[in-house]
Amino acid sequence: MKYHFCYQCGSLLEQRSIEGRWRSYCPVCKVILYENPLPSVAAVAINESNEILLVKRKFEPGVGGWCLPGGFIEIGETPEEAVVRELYEESGVVGNNPQLLGVRTHLNGFYGDVLIIGYLIQVEKTKLHEGDDAAEACFFLAGQRPPLIFPVHEKFIELWQQKVCER
Ligand SMILES: [Zn+2]
Repeated sequence: MKYHFCYQCGSLLEQRSIEGRWRSYCPVCKVILYENPLPSVAAVAINESNEILLVKRKFEPGVGGWCLPGGFIEIGETPEEAVVRELYEESGVVGNNPQLLGVRTHLNGFYGDVLIIGYLIQVEKTKLHEGDDAAEACFFLAGQRPPLIFPVHEKFIELWQQKVCER
């Protein structure tokens, strides 16, 4: 269970079986503190040479490993805005018009359950910079890229490659 204390009154929570699951419950406020997957985004960013942009993780989870640019959706932000922002923050690449690739989940990870919305973004081969959350950003040919640390990111690359084959 993620929550131990009530976020409204600070009371110690009880664990109760509610709607078929063990849930945190505040006996003072009489509220159920639901736990849900965190919404996040990932970008399959492709340049005009059909190379894919990958970033090297600077922080946990997966420090030192390669992954797609991405991160959590902020309050007040659409998923499309989030993926364009994360792409820029992690690599300096300006993207626009993200196309939905698919939605997947990553369960029991560092942040618990995460819902990941994958987008395809056509980008220009611009100058890359090191972003806040990434140690390195680089374009790779699909056949010469390093393996990714998050299996769900590999899934988004598969979805992109299926899309390429459909054309
Ligand atoms: Zn309470």
